[in-house]
Amino acid sequence: MSRRLVNDPRRPGDDPGLWTEAEEDIGRFSGRPALFLDRDGVVNEDTGYPSRPEHIRILGEIIEPIRRANAAGWPVVVVTNQSGVAQGLLSWDDFAAITAHIDAGLAAQGARLDLVLACAYYGNGRPPLDIDGHPMRKPNPGMLLEAGRLTGLDFKRSLMVGDRESDFQAAIGAGVPHLFSPAPDCIGLHLALTIEPVHPLAEAAGLIA
Ligand SMILES: [Mg+2]
Repeated sequence: MSRRLVNDPRRPGDDPGLWTEAEEDIGRFSGRPALFLDRDGVVNEDTGYPSRPEHIRILGEIIEPIRRANAAGWPVVVVTNQSGVAQGLLSWDDFAAITAHIDAGLAAQGARLDLVLACAYYGNGRPPLDIDGHPMRKPNPGMLLEAGRLTGLDFKRSLMVGDRESDFQAAIGAGVPHLFSPAPDCIGLHLALTIEPVHPLAEAAGLIA
């Protein structure tokens, strides 16, 4: 299964701050719940603005939930803030190389990402990416809503895995009720408007069927 760029920020006329890469037949996920994943600190170790594939180490705990979602016919959707692009710390080509590296690492373990969204907008970035509080940047729900627009997925049965409060705020903003984290300091966190707290990542796979 291969993905193609729906929005290429390097292409004239496309949104310069948003990377959107989707599996060819993404429409087959219509009506399905999604497994939403933050990237750094969830899919790979958070090393702080990784810009090269060799900076990436995939975290073992995320493999099983991804494989479960793949098998259950849920889209696996990465939603990642990439302010490093706006700050000139990495290019979109660097981002693409890292994504390819993550894809290969996951494939070796029988796991697949269906949709990848990245937002570079950042208030202290370089023009034209220097937009503060952009709707696509977490904690805003724009990337999740865009995933919903592309797939017709069911937010109410979807899961979010994050390691920052902003990941969960974005999820809540999109109507995703089930929140999970590999980060001990996030577990049990209650956010405004939620009944459910953030649960340990180890419990996520049990909800995916
Ligand atoms: Mg993170």
